[in-house]
Amino acid sequence: MRAMVLTEPGRPLEERDLPVPEPGLGELLIRVSACAVCRTDLHIFDGELPDPKLPLVLGHQIVGRVEGSGERVGVPWLGWADGECRYCRSGRENLCERPQFTGFHRDGGYAEYVVAHEDFCHTPPEDYDDVAATPLLCAGLIGFRALRLAGDAARLGLYGFGSSAHIVAQVAHWQGRSVYAFTRRGDAEAQQLARSLGAVWAGASEDVPPATLDAAIIYAPVGALVPLALRAVRKGGRVVCAGIHMSDIPSFPYSILWQERQLVSVANLTRQDGIDFLKVAAQANITTHTTVFPLERANEALAQLREGKLVGAAVLRP
Ligand SMILES: [Zn+2]
Ligand SMILES: [Zn+2]
Repeated sequence: MRAMVLTEPGRPLEERDLPVPEPGLGELLIRVSACAVCRTDLHIFDGELPDPKLPLVLGHQIVGRVEGSGERVGVPWLGWADGECRYCRSGRENLCERPQFTGFHRDGGYAEYVVAHEDFCHTPPEDYDDVAATPLLCAGLIGFRALRLAGDAARLGLYGFGSSAHIVAQVAHWQGRSVYAFTRRGDAEAQQLARSLGAVWAGASEDVPPATLDAAIIYAPVGALVPLALRAVRKGGRVVCAGIHMSDIPSFPYSILWQERQLVSVANLTRQDGIDFLKVAAQANITTHTTVFPLERANEALAQLREGKLVGAAVLRP
C-alpha cells in the first residue's frame, strides 16, 4: 500500500510502498477513504512530542471502510487504553497510563490502509460524506471536550480560529452561547468565517473584546495567548488550553489569575466523548470546511497548516 512515512522528526514525509498491515485480535483492517490533518501531526513532525514510534505513519482523523464488511468507521487519536489503570477505572481513559495513540504509537491514516482496535472506532454521522466527517474525529471531538470543560459559559472566547474552533463555534452557537473569535491580527478570512458560523464578534487576539467573557478556549499553540485570555475573562471565569503542545507561557501578574479564575488543560479524549460529540454533530448540523489534498501531497498540507494558510481543515485522500 502507499503511505507517507515519517522516518525522523523534521524530515519531510517519504512516500513509500508498505505491506498492507495485518489486524491482530480485536482489530479491524480499514481501507482509508480520507484522513484530516491535525495540528498534533505537525507537533509530531516537528519533534515537539517525545518518543513517537519510528518510522511512523501519521494521521488520526480517519474515515474508512472495514475490509470484508464494508462498514464505515472513524478512527480517532485514542487508539487503545489499558482499561485497568487508576485513570481508566475512574472514567478518565483520556489520561491512561499506557495509552496507544493513533498516528503516534500506532500507524495512522496517511496511507491506503490502517489497522485499528474495534472497541476504539466510532461511527461517523450519516449526513456527512467521508471528507466532511474527518475533522469531527479530533478537531471536533477534542474541541468538544474543551467546550465541556469551559462549563456553562454564555460568553465564550475562542483563541485561534482553525479546524477545531470552526467546529466548536457552531456547536456553541447551536447551544445558544455567544461566541467571540480571536485570530492572528489581519486574518480577515478566518474572522469572516467565524462571523458566518455565528460568532457575535471576531477580532485579533490582542484586542479587548466588547464584553467580558465567561470562559475562553485556546486552540492556537501560543503560550502568549494565556495571559491575554485571562485578562479577557470575568472573575471566576475559566481559560481552557486545548492543544497538546504550546510555546512557553510568558510570566504574568498574579492579579489576572486571582478572583478565582481558573486555568486548565485538556488532554486526549475518552470513547464517551466521541459518542456524545458525534450525536451532537448530527443534531447541530455542523458544516466542516475542508481543503482536499492527494495523499502524496501530505508535506504540502502540513506546510500550509504551519503557515496558517488553511481555512478549516486539510484532508488527505489516498
Ligand atoms: Zn488506563
Ligand atoms: Zn488531533
